[in-house]
Amino acid sequence: MSAERPFVANKYTRFLAKVGHGDFDPNECWVWLGAGKGNGYGHIKTDSGTTGAHRIAHELFIGPIPDGMDVCHTCDNRGCVNPDHLFTGTRADNMADMKAKGRGRGPSGVRKHLKEHIWQEIKRRLAAGHSPRKIANQMDVNYGTVTAIRGGRSYVGLGE
Ligand SMILES: [Zn+2]
Repeated sequence: MSAERPFVANKYTRFLAKVGHGDFDPNECWVWLGAGKGNGYGHIKTDSGTTGAHRIAHELFIGPIPDGMDVCHTCDNRGCVNPDHLFTGTRADNMADMKAKGRGRGPSGVRKHLKEHIWQEIKRRLAAGHSPRKIANQMDVNYGTVTAIRGGRSYVGLGE
C-alpha cells in the first residue's frame, strides 16, 4: 500500500460538501444543501452564470449534457443531485414526464413511466439472483414487468 496522501479539495469534494448524501446510498436522494433558485432546484454560480446543481452533478459524475437537453429526475425531487436519479431528456420529455407524473402518482405512475434506468436496475437485480417478486416489491413495479424483462423485453416495449 502506498503512503496516505494528504486530502486535497477538488471540484468533486467541493460539490459534495454541499450535499446531504447520507452514506452515498445510490437509492437515497442526495439533497443539495447550498443555495436554491426558489423553484426547488439547487443552484451554483459558475464562470458562465448560474446553473442548476443537478446539472453540475450530471456533468461531474455522468458526463457532459448534450446541447439543448434538460437534466430530469427519476425521483421527482428537484433538490436531488444523486447521479443515479438523473437522466437527460429534451425539454418536451421533461414537461411530458412531469405532467404524466402529476396525473398518475404511485405504483401505476412508476410502471407507466418505466425508464431505461429502472429497466437496467431490474436487469441488474435479476442478474444478481433476486426473485422477480422481491424486485417488484422493492422497486414498486409490476410483477409482470419484471418477468417480461427477464424474458428479454426492452424498456422501449414496456413504456406507456
Ligand atoms: Zn433523488
